[in-house]
Amino acid sequence: MGRVIKLYDEPFSVFEKPDLVIVPIGSVERHGNHLPLGTDTIIAQAISELTAKKLAERGKVVALMPPIWYGYTWSLRHMDGTVSVDPKVLTSFIEEIIVTMANPRFSRILFINGHGGNKEVLEIAIKEALIRLGPGIKVGFISWWDVLTKGDYEKLFGTVPMHACEIETSIMLALNEKYVDLNAIEGKVEPSERKVLKAIEEVRRTFAFGYLGDPKKADKEKGKLLLEIVSDRLASMLLKELKSSSGLEIE
Ligand SMILES: [Zn+2]
Repeated sequence: MGRVIKLYDEPFSVFEKPDLVIVPIGSVERHGNHLPLGTDTIIAQAISELTAKKLAERGKVVALMPPIWYGYTWSLRHMDGTVSVDPKVLTSFIEEIIVTMANPRFSRILFINGHGGNKEVLEIAIKEALIRLGPGIKVGFISWWDVLTKGDYEKLFGTVPMHACEIETSIMLALNEKYVDLNAIEGKVEPSERKVLKAIEEVRRTFAFGYLGDPKKADKEKGKLLLEIVSDRLASMLLKELKSSSGLEIE
């Protein structure tokens, strides 16, 4: 029978073997004046819990680990409240978490990521950990917004996910209205065009208000729907991978 075990705040038996262990990861980063610093972690944790619940309904035992609240961030570093961990330190930190957690019982580990800046760090940490661990252990990560396609977002919101935008704000409204202050939004902020050569002054200009897009358009119901669709699809993807012998592919 499937079930979700929150390993960090409920007892579990040494005889239990989770089919999958989920670790949410986010950031402590400024999200305009309208969302909390912990937005990325709060969303990653919510999607982890929903996905775990859906896998449990389909017979899987899913263990939830406490989230990693701090991440690596560079584009919002100029704004109060943003805290970033040195990427080399964060890579080692995540690598050690994987290496010490993994064993024959905890052999399938997935990070659900809520923050763009963590992608490169997760990529390297997982690969290095897998080399150290050797055969039999499967580890991967997925950033929640990558579960859906650009077309899915355009259909639902008329835009794609951006920092502290209407999509992130809608999700936070859906999770708890206390997380959002809609009156603190200045107006629409256009994203800058993607360039090969980066300059810090351009990044600071783009993120002068700490958000992109038009968060005033945030909609609680759309946020709820998005959480459902993302966790549904993620659960289906994982179910397939947990059934197959090839396991979680990270590339
Ligand atoms: Zn965010």
